[in-house]
Amino acid sequence: MVMAVEDSAVQVVVRVRPPTPRELESQRRPVIQVVDERVLVFDPEEPDGGFLGLKWGSVHDGPKKKGKDLTFVFDRVFGEAATQQDVFQHTTHSILDSFLQGYNCSVFAYGATGAGKTHTMLGREGDPGIMYLTTMELYRRLEARQEEKQFEVLISYQEVYNEQIHDLLEPKGPLAIREDPDKGVVVQGLSFHQPTSAEQLLEMLTRGNRNRTQHPTDANATSSRSHAIFQIFVKQQDRVPGLTQALQVAKMSLIDLAGSERASSTHAKGERLREGANINRSLLALINVLNALADAKGRKSHVPYRDSKLTRLLKDSIGGNCRTVMIAAISPSSLTYEDTYNTLKYADRAKEIKLSVRAA
Ligand code: ADP
Ligand code: MG
Repeated sequence: MVMAVEDSAVQVVVRVRPPTPRELESQRRPVIQVVDERVLVFDPEEPDGGFLGLKWGSVHDGPKKKGKDLTFVFDRVFGEAATQQDVFQHTTHSILDSFLQGYNCSVFAYGATGAGKTHTMLGREGDPGIMYLTTMELYRRLEARQEEKQFEVLISYQEVYNEQIHDLLEPKGPLAIREDPDKGVVVQGLSFHQPTSAEQLLEMLTRGNRNRTQHPTDANATSSRSHAIFQIFVKQQDRVPGLTQALQVAKMSLIDLAGSERASSTHAKGERLREGANINRSLLALINVLNALADAKGRKSHVPYRDSKLTRLLKDSIGGNCRTVMIAAISPSSLTYEDTYNTLKYADRAKEIKLSVRAA
């Protein structure tokens, strides 16, 4: 059989959230200038009189500053006015076709605590995020194909916290990962659900999020120290009388990563520091996996999936035969200058990742 082989890059987008009241009050200068839908400038050089719309207060950081003035180009840049629907349309929506053809997909929200990851993935009451919008769009599409296909949709919601996996919809003890030759990565004992209405789906997302392990840190009073992974499984089979059709299974993983800031920036001590170390372990492992994929540029090479729970869990959903979208979330304020700079550098590097996608 001839396999269609195609190199697909990781899609990388950046979302700049609106300034928070605290950032506005601080009257620090904004450090992000969105130029157009693909370009932004970090720490722009301040021309006399300042940028139109780039100054929040009359108080500056001091004398006119020579900025880093770095221009970045991404697959898409979302300014503070972007809606959840805008972000959905230009991220997950564009890989749904592939998903329905049987490719595993993953969408990551990456960034420091407070940068807007949870807002983007989960959203808030009355303004649901990508997890909800993706599931609803999927139902819509499958319904339209009901004549030709038989299908089943299952969802799960879990977190990786301190290198342990917890079910967010039916909380119980930590769960183990197994690799099944047929089914791929399996989390033993994880619960699967079939919400029957939009309301029920929203209720599950909200309940799951409430079950996340959250601890106050200096950086953000409700910061999440865990990685939340929402997965949608679709099984489909052609409706052809008298023929046994192959069952096609694909998995979409939507991941709200823990904050990428360094532990030191939150003055972490004791238990919190241990959390920080484990967060860094999973995030670092993810970064190492993505870097290995970037260096491999589609060639076969060693990818260190085994180094953390997060990367083991996502082994069959990143790299190889998968579609991947990275959403980097940033604040526009100079209050988080280093975090924003690190996130942009990381996102810029992620653009180099080439995945070899074979037709499923
Ligand atoms: P993170 O999950 O990265 O720690 P959050 O998503 O919790 O950050 O965002 C921090 C705060 O900013 C929250 O109060 C959230 O409601 C708000 N926020 C984030 N992104 C947006 C946005 N695009 N529009 C409006 N408010 C936002
Ligand atoms: Mg969060």
